[in-house]
Amino acid sequence: MYQQTVEIAIDTETDQRIAASELLTLPEADFSAMRRLAMAERVARKNGANRARYICAICRIPLWLSRYNHDEGNRWFKHDEASTGCPWFEGNKLSPVQRRALIYRGQQEGAEHRRVKEFIASWLEKEPGVTKVDRELVTHGQILKGEWKRPDVQCVKDGKRIVFEIQLSYTFLSEVIKRDEFYRREGIFIIWVFSFFDLRRATVRDEAFFNQRNLFVLDATAFAETAKRSLLTFNGHFQNPVFNGNAIEDEWTTRPITLQEAQFPTSTYRPFFFDYDAARRALERERAQSERQAMQAKREAQETSVQRWRDEQRTSFRLGVREYLRTAIAYCDSDYSDELKQRLIDAAAELKDNHHWHRGLAPLSDEKFFGWHRVLPVLLSMKHGRVLGYRLDSAYQVLEAGVRQSTQRRVYGFAVVYLWASDIYKVPLNEKQRQWRKALARKVKLSVDGDEATYRRATYYDEAIVLLFPELEEKLSSGFAA
Ligand SMILES: [Zn+2]
Repeated sequence: MYQQTVEIAIDTETDQRIAASELLTLPEADFSAMRRLAMAERVARKNGANRARYICAICRIPLWLSRYNHDEGNRWFKHDEASTGCPWFEGNKLSPVQRRALIYRGQQEGAEHRRVKEFIASWLEKEPGVTKVDRELVTHGQILKGEWKRPDVQCVKDGKRIVFEIQLSYTFLSEVIKRDEFYRREGIFIIWVFSFFDLRRATVRDEAFFNQRNLFVLDATAFAETAKRSLLTFNGHFQNPVFNGNAIEDEWTTRPITLQEAQFPTSTYRPFFFDYDAARRALERERAQSERQAMQAKREAQETSVQRWRDEQRTSFRLGVREYLRTAIAYCDSDYSDELKQRLIDAAAELKDNHHWHRGLAPLSDEKFFGWHRVLPVLLSMKHGRVLGYRLDSAYQVLEAGVRQSTQRRVYGFAVVYLWASDIYKVPLNEKQRQWRKALARKVKLSVDGDEATYRRATYYDEAIVLLFPELEEKLSSGFAA
């Protein structure tokens, strides 16, 4: 016989468990403060208030704090009212056997605990490869004397020592950790068994955190599976990482698990059946890869659209140049009508909107380039081998007039370009005209070689000329007479 006391209280404000042993090491001031608070609430309850900062972890009746004398070391939690169903109630003068009986009788978990334990042990006894099944009951007396380490069920399977601990409402995290450490040191595998899965329970959440999000559950499903297979089978609960859009979410999933299917890692001595970390890493790799692919696809799409835009620009520029030339011919043929002049300026403006436009092309909208007896009518006449924009009889006559256009006093800046054009576009010439052109070409060469200014080319239209008459580009870029 001994005086039992509340071993664990719950602080209802913080939801923390306070072991009675902690009271002993508390500084006097802290203990006094707790005691004053509990006493104040006790008085308030007597006056009808419904307040209780500390409650019994088993029966949940409000507690107050007591001390026998003024020595430290005599501090207790005490039930504030009779709780005959609670094994920790001070008013019960109980033996350990009575206490255990009280737990079993008073708490549904008592019966549940025994049921789960018997279930595990009886199926282990039938399982091939399993020996030394031990299910001896642990008395509270033994627990209080320090024999808490005896597990609910233990066995040896294929040379591995395995213990099963059943997790009911009152297994505290500190106890779980203590046992985990003990068994790991001893090289014994420990499986915590739950009788149902409820994430609102702290013990379930703690175990999920500790054991790779794997839980061994013995519920109705597990019982049915066990019967079906004639082999101890848990309803394995585990968090399975899955994609939700691009996010990875952990989804609680179940599958039947026998001991054969569990892995027994000697790093933790905590068996598990689903490698959450590996699954998560695999998904993260997959996501990283698909993100890389998506970025690659996006980049390619951008490049494609840029390429398409460039192609469109190039095509529309080419069409725009063709339209400009067509309009220029019509303008010359109309004898420089105002209407066609405006259309020519519009055609130049169209080109100006294009990516390929540059400042060197400004002459396209300058009448000094395209207007009456200017550069464009002469070059068009050379190219088409007929008179354009002149009241003359032949392209030869246009050439003959063109080389006499002066750009400054006694300077014929376009004569060289016209001579090249007449040659490249093969302007029809008779023998006499050919001799004339040959003589002129010789004269031009002598003048240029002599570093005279007379036939020095006016180059400010070069880019506009090359755009409209690309056949002249090679000559224009030769540097001759420039
Ligand atoms: Zn109690």
